This record gives sequence, structure tokens and C-alpha cells, in this order.
Amino acid sequence: MKLSFHGADRDVTGSCHLVECAGRRILIDCGMYQGSRELSEENSEPFGFDPAAIDILLLTHAHLDHCGRLPLLAKRGFRGEVVTTAASRELVRMVVLDAAHLQEEDARHGAGHTQRQDAGETATLYSQLDALNSMDRFGRVAAYGQPLELVPGVRVTFLDAGHILGSAGVLLELEEQGTRRRVLLSGDIGNAGRPLLRDPVSVAADVVVMETTYGDRLHKPLADSVAELYKVVTETFARGGNVVIPTFALERAQELLYFLREGQEQGRVPASFQVFLDSPMAISATDIFEHHPECYNTKLAGFFQSGRDPFHLPSLQFTREGAESKAINSITGEAVIMAGAGMCTGGRVRHHLLHNLGRAESSVVFVGYAAQGTLARQIIDGARNVSLFGEEIPVRASIHTIGGFSAHADQAELLAWQSRTNAGTTILVHGEEQTMKTLAAQIHAAHVLMPELNATVEL
Ligand code: ZN
Repeated sequence: MKLSFHGADRDVTGSCHLVECAGRRILIDCGMYQGSRELSEENSEPFGFDPAAIDILLLTHAHLDHCGRLPLLAKRGFRGEVVTTAASRELVRMVVLDAAHLQEEDARHGAGHTQRQDAGETATLYSQLDALNSMDRFGRVAAYGQPLELVPGVRVTFLDAGHILGSAGVLLELEEQGTRRRVLLSGDIGNAGRPLLRDPVSVAADVVVMETTYGDRLHKPLADSVAELYKVVTETFARGGNVVIPTFALERAQELLYFLREGQEQGRVPASFQVFLDSPMAISATDIFEHHPECYNTKLAGFFQSGRDPFHLPSLQFTREGAESKAINSITGEAVIMAGAGMCTGGRVRHHLLHNLGRAESSVVFVGYAAQGTLARQIIDGARNVSLFGEEIPVRASIHTIGGFSAHADQAELLAWQSRTNAGTTILVHGEEQTMKTLAAQIHAAHVLMPELNATVEL
């Protein structure tokens, strides 16, 4: 029995781990490297294993850094079965098709210009057709908490991760020549006590592989973050500006809609203002959300059962079309504009930043993780000017980072999740190196490992 590491090793993106047991190969996640390095050499490099030899691919959730290389895997020979939850299956389809579309667009406009292009090679990792073809690999659907025999000697149970809709940690129960091992891979771990999803679950295991994104910091309590959001909205509107929120399409957008609705109902923000969800993907994700009650926590389930829509704001506008999005540019105040991409590496949010970043009346609120080298990180780190569409834009808007909305557990929650496993070996992935070291110092386990790319561990 072996476990090897092929992405998100001393790094935050590109999750990909391989378990070998009883002659079978089970891959857990096949994510894309993201941030400033999208479409970088790393994504197109060999996987570090033979894609054709993989029997099963388990997907923990639909974020691109966990599922984004699926079409590439299939293109390079993977003919096995993809197993994930029902909600993830729909979201993965949307996310990888969108990624393929963006790559094709970038290739057409030259934005994805790379050395490979100079060498006359294709600029995209995969086409929309490749992405569609990879959907044929979807097989059995995993239900939360119900063990599934993947192949003889390998059972998997998907456990609530509380991160995004359909997200899960995976418990593998392995058996080879009389030896048994329980290996728990966290996927991305969310926060307890959130408005939409159930709390993350961890169970006893011999070996744990866990994410460490926020392993070195504590989030503010959610209630404080909600109060901060309401304050920013109220004060910005009083100044006559807009609130721009770079939003990841999955989960954060729905949570923000939930809290904005609650704020209006409780009179904690002005009674009427325009809200734009300016992201075709976030709009589709909201639709998918409404069709998966099996993922809801009790409070949210109660909302739907009583016939209420938890995401409904009277002045909410879903802007799917480009022309509708452009029309927002003429609105100078009293609008909350949510648009992707969360790290501002592309997407419609860049247009809204172009129109609001230079205005002292407006605010920009960051609610998610911003990788080094991204536009979001530059603004958060206090850049006085940023470059957008070839223009130097001064940063005059009021900048806020509200960490409590993060979809990732903080240090305390990561440690609590880990301690419930009683694992003798804990393997840290999906974090910046310094963050991992900080977390490692706090973990009680006989062995704490931080593997390098392509490292192998005997189980
Ligand atoms: Zn994630």
C-alpha cells in the first residue's frame, strides 16, 4: 500500500494524491494549479503517474484546484471511473466546461500567451470537447456517510466537509494481504456553524492527509464578519459609492446573498439597494444549490420546506449576459456588485474594479483566499496603483478583507478536525510552506509530514 503526492504539495493549488492498494490505483482529486500561474507549465507537465493506469478518481469537491485537470487526465488516457457526490457531479461539469471555455477565449485573445505558444504548441490544456468527453468517466454517485466498495480491498465513505455544496472528505478503508489501513483525506475543510451546510466531519484514521490553507491564522467569528459587511455596505452607500465583492462562484456568493437578505429583513442595512450577481457561473451554482437538499443543514432545509427562498432579495438581479453586465458600469452608487473571479485574475470583476477602484466613495470587500501574485493579493497588500486593461488605476476605494466568510477552516478548526482522527501519521498538503510549518508545530501526532511533489509514503 502506497500513497504518493502529485499536486498541492507545499503549495495551495493543484490537489492530486494517489493511493495504490491491492493492485489498484485510486486517485484523489486532479486539480489545476491556479493563481498567477494558471495555464503555466506546471499544469501541462506529466502527472507523475500513468493516467491510463488509474482505476478510480475520487473528487472531493468542484473547485478548480481539485477537479480542473480531469479533462487533461482523460485526454491523456484515463479510462477509469469518477466517483463523487451528486451535487459535485453537476458543479464539476459546470466548472471544467467554464475552464475550457476561458482557456479557448484566452488562446484566441492572446492572454494565455506562454512559451509553449511560442514553440507553436497548443495554448489550451484542453478544449470544451475534451471537457465534455471527460464527463463520460462519471460513474457511481456517493452519498454522504454511506460506504461504497470501489474495488475489492478498497472502500470509500464520503464525509461532510462543510466547504462548498457537495464537498466531502474521503475515508478510504484499504486491505492488502491481511493488512488494513484507514486513510482519511480531508479535501478542503470548511467551518462549523455556517448558514447553509452541515459542519465538517472527521473520523478515526491511521493516516490523515489534510489541507492547511489557513493553518497559521484564526478567523474572526462569523457574526463579527457579518456585522462588518453590514457596516461597509451602510457606510459606502452613505458616501454614494458601490460595494464590489470579488466572489468565488461556489458557496461564497450564496452565503453573501443569504446574509444580505437577512440584513435587510433585520434592518441592519438600508431597506432597498440593488444587488447584482454578475457571474453566469454563480447564477448556475445558485440553481444547482436549490436542487440538492441532501446537502443542506437543518436551518436551510427548514427555509425551503416552508416555501421561502433563502437567497431572495427584492432587488437582486442575475446578470448572465455581457450587455447586462456592462450596464452595471453606469451605476455609481448604492449597489452591491458580486462578480468573479475571486482572486481578480480574470472575469467580470476586473471591469467593476476598473470603474470603482479609483473612487474614494466605493468599497472593495475581499471575502476569500487570495494567492500570492494575484491582483486581489496586490490590492489587499496595499498597492497604491494597479494595472487593469493596460491602464494604471489608483486605489482610492476603501479596501476590506473580511476573513470570517472564508470557506476554509482556520487554525483552531483544522486542529480540532485533526485531533478527532487520532491519526498516528498526519500529512500536510494544500498550504504555503511557512503556514504548514506553523500548523505542524501545533499538531499532536507521532509523525507529521510535509511531502514534496511526487514523494511516496508507504502505508
Ligand atoms: Zn475548495
